Amino acid sequence: MTLAVTRDSPLRGLLGGKTATVLAEQLSLHTVDDLLGHYPRRYAERGKLTDLASLRIGDEVTIVARVRSVTQRRMRNKRGTLTDVVVGDGRRSLSLVFFNQPWRAKQLAAGVTGLFAGKIGVRGNQIQLSHPECEIFGATNRDPDAVIDPAALVDDGERALTYASALIPVYPASRGMQSWTIARCLRLALEALGDVEDPLPDDMRGRRGLIGLTEAWRRIHQPQSLADVEPARLRLKWDEAVTVQVTLARRRVAQAINPAYPRPIREGGLLDSFDTRLPFVLTAGQRVVGAEISRDLGGHKPMNRLLQGEVGSGKTVVALRAMLQVIDAGAQAAFLAPTEVLAAQHLRTLRSLLGPLGIAGEFGAEEHATGITLLTGSLSVKARRAALAEAAGGGAGIVVGTHALLEEVVQFADLGLVVIDEQHRFGVEQRDVLRAKSAAPPHVLVLTATPIPRTVAMTVYGDLETTTLTELPAGRAEVSTSVVPVREKPTWLDRAWTRIVEEARTGGRAFIVCPRIGDDGATGAGAAGNGAAGRLDDGDESPQPPAEDDSPSEDDEPGPTKRAPLAVLDVAEMLREGPLAGLRLAVLHGRLPGDEKDAIMQAFARGDLEALVTTTVIEVGVDVPEASVMAILDADRFGVSQLHQLRGRIGRGPRPGICLLVTEAPADSPARLRLEAVAATRDGFELARVDLASRREGNILGAAQSGRQSGLRLLSLLDDEGIITQAREEATYLVALDPDLAGHPALAAQVARLSEDRRADYLDKA
Ligand code: ADP
Ligand code: MG
Repeated sequence: MTLAVTRDSPLRGLLGGKTATVLAEQLSLHTVDDLLGHYPRRYAERGKLTDLASLRIGDEVTIVARVRSVTQRRMRNKRGTLTDVVVGDGRRSLSLVFFNQPWRAKQLAAGVTGLFAGKIGVRGNQIQLSHPECEIFGATNRDPDAVIDPAALVDDGERALTYASALIPVYPASRGMQSWTIARCLRLALEALGDVEDPLPDDMRGRRGLIGLTEAWRRIHQPQSLADVEPARLRLKWDEAVTVQVTLARRRVAQAINPAYPRPIREGGLLDSFDTRLPFVLTAGQRVVGAEISRDLGGHKPMNRLLQGEVGSGKTVVALRAMLQVIDAGAQAAFLAPTEVLAAQHLRTLRSLLGPLGIAGEFGAEEHATGITLLTGSLSVKARRAALAEAAGGGAGIVVGTHALLEEVVQFADLGLVVIDEQHRFGVEQRDVLRAKSAAPPHVLVLTATPIPRTVAMTVYGDLETTTLTELPAGRAEVSTSVVPVREKPTWLDRAWTRIVEEARTGGRAFIVCPRIGDDGATGAGAAGNGAAGRLDDGDESPQPPAEDDSPSEDDEPGPTKRAPLAVLDVAEMLREGPLAGLRLAVLHGRLPGDEKDAIMQAFARGDLEALVTTTVIEVGVDVPEASVMAILDADRFGVSQLHQLRGRIGRGPRPGICLLVTEAPADSPARLRLEAVAATRDGFELARVDLASRREGNILGAAQSGRQSGLRLLSLLDDEGIITQAREEATYLVALDPDLAGHPALAAQVARLSEDRRADYLDKA
């Protein structure tokens, strides 16, 4: 032995170049640790191998069988090949079909024996497995029609080792790397590695009833019985949970190291004047949350607070009051919005709320007045220069902007508070950039109207303290939501248009939302796998990737060719000439120039426009009290949270709102059920749970994150709330005693592994 094998050893040295290359290229497994974290998808129980006679349609099966014949042909009408492999158990046969995998003919030559796993389907009156997983035991010369005795496989050299136990782990495999090869690699790795130092301290394991790490790896990869597996999974989930929580706990500690400059409340200042001017009474929730924030601002510990409030719960006023407290203390506030539309609207909102208190230096300004400046990417050179000067010179108490505020040239005289609207579009990195613009770390308040389930809050936003605002201001009208199933009830859609015309006639206003713009081939809905990155684009309505992002792929029954999602430009034309003829209607989407978007929004707010055909550009924050109807076309293309956000744009004044979710999704389809759930409740938290359940975990953590990349392979944000909560307690305790993890080297290494390779990107770019 020359070099000891550790968790971080490359697989290359251990397994040989060829295998290591395939594992790296096809499964992204590079180190021993990567391989150990490649867990079996399930276990085939050798004693219970399915006899072909007993197969039933719809069953998920794993069978042992031998290939009897292979035929391959080109498909008619379609391009590609169809490979038909007939396998048998010596008594009966079953057909395996593969499309466009001509290499299967070679892999599954007659006489080859293997494990085949998949879901039993039918073609004609024949049962079949389409695209089964295959684990080849190796070609044999036995009579292809001989009866297979599974136990006999154990005598077969190599295979004897792989399948020595009663349970056969079935791994996520790839074309060049069969499950059984992976099992063999794991056996080598576990042997070479021996016992490792446990990253979870003994006392923690004792308290939580967890088995050791080495033991857990052995049990999950080489179980003797199914009873072995559960304790192993539990232990490994804890590893994931503790690693994430320790990362976050350390970040919280680090953030608190540099004290913030306290900005305590000042009697008789701008905030007091503002409060006396407020045209409404604060809700009880706004008062409680306001007091909490006010206390934080007055302290030395930098505030890092996430304020989640129902759509329309009045977060802006809460944020503004916090900004005024900071201005009273002689500092400035930055207010970040995700889009130009929203930044411009915030500017108008703040100006109108502040009135003479927000026009320092201008005619009619009041005594304590401050200045408000807008800074976005589309300002003219001159306007930009002026805005930069106001920020740097301190003339602007409040600087409202998009992510243009993050640029290096933007400087503040004394930045005391950063308010970030709609958190899901800004991550830790952006917050850090803003923090760096101030000598002492500024307080940070993040607003979000997308309610976040507790587990997600603890994992993805774990470095923020959360506060919730659930109450809506009194006097808010109801919003009733209905699903309009156009296939079953085509006349309902006509009624919807009639309703929109009626609303407009009585002073109401309508949004018609489509998934796509339609000015070129780029589909908003389909092409937007860009996730978080795309969302940061200034002025981009970030058409969400609904089908991909929000609905499990099971939704996408192969069905007849799906038509393209409806497009704003087409729909607007159709409506102008048809059902909404005579209505003052305009089109709004993210590719319009900033000032044009703004002009359209203002015309709509004034009532010069009665209907907007729009994309999700209006998703967040747009506040027009008269807006009363919203028709969301192809509603099944949007995610649950997104629909909830969109719906929040109506019913913001005294006018009752009507939200119509127009869809072609068939009754009882998963997509339809999601829409029914949205129609059934206005409780954002309830919907957040529905959303979580309908997404794959990786998507919660960020668009392009697979479970493996996120560091969460076994841990489920949906099902493992208990583990996450307990792991958070353990991590907080541990980090408080040992912030540098000096006494916990194995845990420190594990934490380092998580942040390496930016695998835990979601921790930064939530
Ligand atoms: P959101 O929480 O969705 O961002 P906003 O802050 O935009 O909500 O507030 C929605 C509307 O409610 C705004 O027009 C705001 O002026 C108004 N509003 C806020 N607080 C109150 C209150 N306490 N009473 C009445 N109206 C309020
Ligand atoms: Mg808002």
